[in-house]
Amino acid sequence: MQLNTRAVHAGREDLTDLGLHAAPIDLSTTYPSHDSHEEASRLDRAKLGEDLGGSPIYGRIGNPTVARFETALANLEGAEAAVAFATGMAALSACLLAVAAQGKRHVVAVRPLYGTTDHLIDSGLLGTEVTWSTVDMLADDVRADTGLVIVESPANPTLSEVDIKAIDVDVPVLVDNTFATPVLQRPLELGADIVLHSATKFLGGHGDVLGGVVACDEQFARRLRAVRTGTGGILHPLAGYLLLRGLSTLPVRIRAASRTAAELARRLADHPGVSRVHRPSIGGPMVSFEVHGDPHTVIGAVQLITPAVSLGSVDTLIQHPGSLSHRVMADEDRRGAGVSDQLLRLSVGLEDVDDLWTDLDQALSQCKSSLG
Ligand SMILES: *Cc1c(COP(=O)(O)O)cnc(C)c1O
Repeated sequence: MQLNTRAVHAGREDLTDLGLHAAPIDLSTTYPSHDSHEEASRLDRAKLGEDLGGSPIYGRIGNPTVARFETALANLEGAEAAVAFATGMAALSACLLAVAAQGKRHVVAVRPLYGTTDHLIDSGLLGTEVTWSTVDMLADDVRADTGLVIVESPANPTLSEVDIKAIDVDVPVLVDNTFATPVLQRPLELGADIVLHSATKFLGGHGDVLGGVVACDEQFARRLRAVRTGTGGILHPLAGYLLLRGLSTLPVRIRAASRTAAELARRLADHPGVSRVHRPSIGGPMVSFEVHGDPHTVIGAVQLITPAVSLGSVDTLIQHPGSLSHRVMADEDRRGAGVSDQLLRLSVGLEDVDDLWTDLDQALSQCKSSLG
């Protein structure tokens, strides 16, 4: 079946047999059983990260509503399995911990990455070590103790792209696919091993749910589930429900916002206050641009567009990466990664293109006048 169909039906296959239309939300923290022999043997399997199906025994081990979202996302990414976490950063932490537990504490990564991702691996907060590399140098920078190669494409916030197919290394390649979504890019088909999403963004799609998810093979999924049970970063069932619902409209939201973003990018490129416009070759709802004047004036002047960090919502959001999404990085690292102080990042929503343009144009004209 095609992606549009799978986005609507995956993770809901059993609903008609259950006599239900909407997915049930299971808020249980625990699951009663009179058979503790059976529970003991199931817990032995959970310890190995096996997907128990049926009763999860305890809410930190698994949840049926979350499992529906995992099934659906794995389907859309063409993965054997998916494991969902409380946030995107919890998902990335689990990946780092899963490889570190096997003695692989070194990662090789390509900048730019989302600011907190950069900080997490650069600071060694989880006891890992990073070598910053380029796509051409990846193979040379891999060591015996390298557990992961980490790339983002299109990358936050410059929208620069990595040729995933061209990556040729002997260690698992993790692609943060948050900006592309499985609608525009499926990294596993391009040779990657692990796909990570901040589900908070386009998958949820309405700015009202935090989540993260990793799509991968069943072997790595078991290690992630074991880490998740041990560290407790599981997605909340209500979030699982909202994310499953979000997936059903993901293809239409992404295509509609991408069309608007392409048109806004064209108009921005012709605007005298704009020096440079960044758009991924695969399209998508994100546009980044550099202004001649003070970027903070634009943030202060927008009326319709929401001046806020984050992305992927039904409303259009604008933010200054140097102040927000990539603030946590050292100034020289951020600028070295191509994130200029003049850069603004726009996440295009579902509003009418002309209304958005009217707002951007008036905000940019104030930016120009602030130049004096
Ligand atoms: C937001 C974001 C993250 C982190 O996700 P949270 O859900 O905020 O923890 C990771 N990667 C990218 C590309 C992001 O934009």
